[in-house]
Parts: sequence; C-alpha cells; structure tokens
Amino acid sequence: MHPFSYTRASDTREALDAGRHGGRYIAGGTTLVDLMRETVERPETLVDISGLPLREVRATQGGGLRIGALVTMAETAAHPKVRALYPVISESLELSASAQLRNMATIGGNIMQRTRCTYFRDVTADCNKREPGSGCAALKGHNRTHAILGTSDACVATHPSDVAVAFAALEATVHLLGPDGERRLRFADFLLRPGSTPNREQAVRQGELITAVEIPALPRPLRSGYLKVRDRQSYEFALTSAAVALHIRGGVIREAKVAAGGVGTVPWKLPAVERHLVGERPSAALWTAAADKAADGARPLQHNRFKPELLKRTVERQLRVVGGTK
Ligand code: SF4
Repeated sequence: MHPFSYTRASDTREALDAGRHGGRYIAGGTTLVDLMRETVERPETLVDISGLPLREVRATQGGGLRIGALVTMAETAAHPKVRALYPVISESLELSASAQLRNMATIGGNIMQRTRCTYFRDVTADCNKREPGSGCAALKGHNRTHAILGTSDACVATHPSDVAVAFAALEATVHLLGPDGERRLRFADFLLRPGSTPNREQAVRQGELITAVEIPALPRPLRSGYLKVRDRQSYEFALTSAAVALHIRGGVIREAKVAAGGVGTVPWKLPAVERHLVGERPSAALWTAAADKAADGARPLQHNRFKPELLKRTVERQLRVVGGTK
C-alpha cells in the first residue's frame, strides 16, 4: 500500500475544502481500501466523511424517497419506507455482497464502486480503465463475466452494483454538492459508458460529494422486485439480473420500469421491453414477447455467448414474478 494522509471532516464545508484540494472521500471503505491494498488506487489524501449528516431516509414532498449517501446498504434494505414503497431496492441490496459488507458500505459508495474485472485488479495486466492506453486484457482473455451491452474497443467490464440496477430502473436522481454548489444528475447520466475513456466511470467533478439518491414518486399500486442470477447463491456478482417495477390498474399495465444488471458496462435500462408492456394486459405470452427484446444490440464475447439468452430468461421470469401469470 502506498503512503497516504488521512483527515476526518467534521462538517460538509471541511469535506468540500479537502475534496477541492484533491482529497478522496471515504466512508465505509469497502471498495477503496481493497483497491489501495492492491495498489490499484493510490490516493495521497483520504477524507473521511462518515461523520457528515447524510444518514437519513425520508419521504420527499412529491411522494418519492430520498436516501442519504451515508445510509448503509443494510439500513436502506431494512428501512420500512423502502420495503413498503420500493421492494426492488431492498431485494437488490439483500442479494449483494455479505452481511458484514452491507453493514459497512454506504449507498453513495455503492454507486461509486469500481468494476470487479479481474484484470483491473491485477496490476500486472493491461487495463485501459486502470492505466489509460495500456490495452484491455479481457478482450482476448477470460471474459465470461464481462459485458455484452454498452461495450467499446477499450473496455468491456460490467458495472458491479445491484442497487444501481434498481436505481436505473426507477429513474433515480443523484444529488451532488461541490465547490460550485448543488447539482442533480439523472441516474442514466451519472454512470458513464466506457467509450474511449473507461477510466472515467462517473460524471462526478473534482471535489463533488454525493449527498443523496432520490427515487421519484411513481403511481400506486406499484409492484416491484429484483432477480439476480449468479454462479453461487451468496457473495457473488450477477451474471444477469433484472429489476422490474409495474403499475397495473384495471388489469392493464399503465407503467413499466425495467433494467438489467451483469450485462452492461452500466446498469442497462430496457426501454424496448418497457414499451412493449405498457397498455397491455399481463399474460405469460406478454412476458415472453417483452423479454425477447432485452438483449437487443448485445455483442457477446468469446466466453459469454450464453448471456443474451440468459438475460431474456431472467427478465421474463422477473416480469412473471412481479406481474403475475395468467
Ligand atoms: Fe480493464 Fe475494462 Fe479491459 Fe477489464 S474490461 S481489463 S477493466 S479495460
């Protein structure tokens, strides 16, 4: 591990000041400390923000939900309002990581976490994300777990977060605070596809702090849930996953929010699937036809040609679970 200095921010102003001078924010530390141990990350200054007043889940005036950036994964998953209004968020969190990690890791840190591509974490391997311009060892290497959507010639790594898939499906907003004041970003604009600059993963500016993730109000009743398909049932990342939320009234689907994980370089929203569902009556045939569009545009790699079909089946099954089968 490279030497670094550590400072603990006692208030937001102090944190922003340290961030503006190049300090890296740390709260639960469940990703950053691992990467520092492996010398993938080498920050000179860590700014501990765990004492800032950003640890609250509350309803917004419009009927949505605001989750403070420092609320832990476990606290978010267990929160009565989250469980009641957006089970898809609770389920995605409970299927993530381990109980110990969920007790430490925060929502802000979760959406800032870096890829689990093994070549990224191996400092002897070529990796454009870690070392821009060095190449991508995964393209010709072992790429079974890598992305099939949103990839580029520079990087094919998946985004590892589960709850980010739920946030993408629900069209959340990320609240940021920086030297120039407050800013809001649509979740779809917050995480960046790799393009030619895979080293840039989030649209966060130097010194900006995530303060909250806001979930918009959605029409009620809203059924939602998360399905994660992985090689083992615990402490494993998704091969494919599906976050689904449906507003069904009078026997007709009035709104559909669907996104996939484990397949994209960012959580992958599925607008073609959503469009196919809206205005229709739930049925087994509808779930199959809608899910058939889930892998549109997929570009599988040598070892993950199974993913498009697995993705369709994952989406179909979760539509059936959330929407019911007739
Ligand atoms: Fe690095 Fe991305 Fe290639 Fe993995 S897929 S080796 S993270 S450039």
